[in-house]
Parts: sequence; structure tokens; C-alpha cells
Amino acid sequence: MRTKQDIADWLDEHERRFTRMSDEIWDNPELQFLEFKASKLQADFLEAEGFRVTWDIGGLSTAFAAEWGAGKPVIAFAGEYDALPGLSQKDQNTPDPISAGAAGHGCGHNLLGTGCLAAAVALKEWLGSSGHSGTVRYYGCPAEEGGSGKVFMGRAGAFDDLDATFNWHPWYINSAMKGSLLSVNRYYFRFHGQTAHAAADPHSGRSALDALELMNIGVNYLREHVTDDVRLHYSILSGGLAPNVVPDYAESYYYVRAIEPDTLEDVSRRVIRIAKGAAMMTDTQVEIVYKSGSTRVLSNEVLADLQYDVMRELGGIDFSAEEQAYAAAINQRFGDANVKTLVNRYGVDPQTAERALIGDVFPSCDKDFVSPGSSDMGDMSWYAPCSMLQTATWASRAAAHSWGVVATGRTSIGHKGMMYAAKVMALAAAQLILSPEILERAQAEFRAVIERSPYKCPIPDDVPAPSHEHPLR
Ligand SMILES: [Zn+2]
Repeated sequence: MRTKQDIADWLDEHERRFTRMSDEIWDNPELQFLEFKASKLQADFLEAEGFRVTWDIGGLSTAFAAEWGAGKPVIAFAGEYDALPGLSQKDQNTPDPISAGAAGHGCGHNLLGTGCLAAAVALKEWLGSSGHSGTVRYYGCPAEEGGSGKVFMGRAGAFDDLDATFNWHPWYINSAMKGSLLSVNRYYFRFHGQTAHAAADPHSGRSALDALELMNIGVNYLREHVTDDVRLHYSILSGGLAPNVVPDYAESYYYVRAIEPDTLEDVSRRVIRIAKGAAMMTDTQVEIVYKSGSTRVLSNEVLADLQYDVMRELGGIDFSAEEQAYAAAINQRFGDANVKTLVNRYGVDPQTAERALIGDVFPSCDKDFVSPGSSDMGDMSWYAPCSMLQTATWASRAAAHSWGVVATGRTSIGHKGMMYAAKVMALAAAQLILSPEILERAQAEFRAVIERSPYKCPIPDDVPAPSHEHPLR
């Protein structure tokens, strides 16, 4: 394996090994910080491939780094493998859970992690046989979904020596991201009151639920006085058990999001004041627990352009008529939000945007475009130049975090998108090694930003990494 073309051929030849791994992770969906099977499966695979594996990165038992090679540059691939609660879904194109209420891969992280791993192994093969020097590092990153695994890993110094980072995300078109995602803080608000019989002596009670409701009302008034990028959402985890008992405990779980960390800090501060105000109004106490957070994505344009060039050389993904028909049935059950994004943000012609599977290659969206979600890839992107690739693995109308995404995650549709992503990332990484001037340009672009606005880890030092015993190690 000497030329770059050999990388693509090698991935084609070894496709089954990777699709089998991805399917195994799909078959065993594991929630944040509990990705025991997935992390063990991947770490064992990489160890057998000659990678040096280090566990417990950032104090997380399902986080590991697997490294091969030596010296500069250090090229990272950031994999994920956590699933989402309640999204169990059979391997079929109509909604039907395998087990109602169980977890499922509604964000395609079975593909995401395995695609990054495949790219890392392919790059290692190429480095080994071509004689170029450099270090390939795969990170098994837990808890992207709300747990900010990478933030804990970064806080512990795991990303300090990186020269470039690659990551991809399953999606419904092929494009390298230039835009961003929102910064986020996540909190638990736990109200403690005084219980009493709700009819016999309500005057003795101090309702924790009243406090929780008043906090939500306050936050809903706050919405009018924040910038348009701010997003506030909550769920109620506990609100008492019986109407005839004044609840002495109530708990909510909040997400506060904004583009810029400064705005996020300010709005978070105001939300916390509202919680304290609600406690004061109801003569209860509030305990505020910071769960996790992440920072907006810093997309590297040089790396995005490099991946776009690779994609144009490779061509897009060919989906068969059978695959199109499978996806069309999924599309019937979703609205046109994705179609509108394609037409309005990417300038895709409406006819193409209506196809059930869109395997074409599209230029990056505008760098000012902020997708209204969040990812801990954001934090990793502040340690070294980083590009998030997106490839077509979903039906074009399927919503992220839905059964529609799970439904293609174990099919040839998902497999094609995953192997395509692996090729693009591995080829782009090889190009960085062959052309150090491209890497230098990427790093200059990166330095210009972080010198102006240095990265600040959103998770306070005193918030411990969530630790769980790993039963398979
Ligand atoms: Zn995701």
C-alpha cells in the first residue's frame, strides 16, 4: 500500500470487518458513560492491529486512546459510540421498537465511531507501507449525547499534542462542515421543601414543585430578553408522587444554549438567579448541580476544503433503487425541515433535495451558519485544527434523534456512508502528511482564532468525571 489510491482500495477490501463492528454496536446500544461493549470491542480490535491502547482518558472508564506510529504530525480521529434513550427501533423502514423504551442508535454513533476507527487503521496501513512518519491516534470518546465525554478528556490534557483532528457525523448529504454548533451548559435544579398533607395542613408544607414551576415560568419570561441564538429547554425529572402530598422534592434538568461562550455564561447566570428567586418565593432551598457543557465548534476551513476536494475526486455515494425505495418509505413519515435546509442553506436544487437518498457531494455551508444543536466535538475543535465531515447515511427527511435514523444504521445505506466517510478522512489525513504546507495553513488559520479568543473549558475543575466500573476490562 504505497499510493493514496491504495487507501481507498484497502478500505473496500476490509469493509466487512468494519460493517460487522458497526452492526454489533447497533445491536447493543449503550447509553452515555456505559459504552462497555463498544469501547472494549474497538480497543481490542485496535490492539490486535498493533495500536497501543490507554484506558481511562479523563477519568472515564469507557474512554480510551489507541496510538500507532511515532513523531509528528499527530493526527487524531475522534470516534463516538453512545446511543440515545427510548429510541429502540427494528432494522426496518416503519417505526417499531425492538423493545419499547429501550435505547437505540438514533444519532448513528455506531457508524460514527466505526468510520473513524476504519480511517485510523487505513492511515496506519498506509504509513506502515509507505514509510512516511507520523502518529495516528484514535480516541474512543464516550457520552457525546449530553455527557460531554470529550470535555473531560480534554480537561485532562488528552488533546494537547494534536496537530489535526478528524471527525465525521452521519447525515443526509455529503459535505464538510464550515459552520458551527451551539455552546451549551446543562444543569440539574433540585428543590427541597417541606412535606405535609395537602388538604389537612397545607400551611405546614413548602412545595418543591411550586418552586420548580415558578422557575420554569421565570425562564419562559426570560426568553424574550435573550438574543435569537439562545435556546432554553428543560424536562422535569421529579415533581412529587401524589396530589394529596405536598412534595418536598422536585427536580428539573436544563439545557442552556447560545453560540458564544460569553453569551452562554451570561444567560446561565440569569437562569441560576431565577432558580434562586423561585426558591426564595416558595421558602424552599435549591441545589444547583452543573452536569456538563460544551463549546461551539471551531471549523477549520482549510481542512474542510481539503475534504471537499477529496470527495470530488472520489465522487459521491451511489445508492441503488432498492435503497432509495427503502428510504422513501421512511421519508413519508417526516416533514420537510431537512429539504428546506438543503435548499436555503446549501443552495441545493429542489429536485435533488426531494430525493430519498442524496449521495451527491456538496460544498460546505457558509461559515457563519450555526446548526441549532451542540456537540463536545466543539471542545475538541479548540485544541487543534478540526473538520467535521458529514456523509449521507440517512433518509433525506429523517430527523436526527429519531427512529428514522436508527432504521438505516444497520443497512447498506448506513454502511456506504460510513465507509465513504472513512475514505475521505483517511485520504485527507494522508494528504496532510504528504503536503505539510496544507497542515501549516490549517494551523495558521487555527492559531489566528485561538490567539484572539482562547479556549476555556466549560466544565469547572471541581466537577468530577462521572466514573463507572468497566465490567469488561
Ligand atoms: Zn450525534
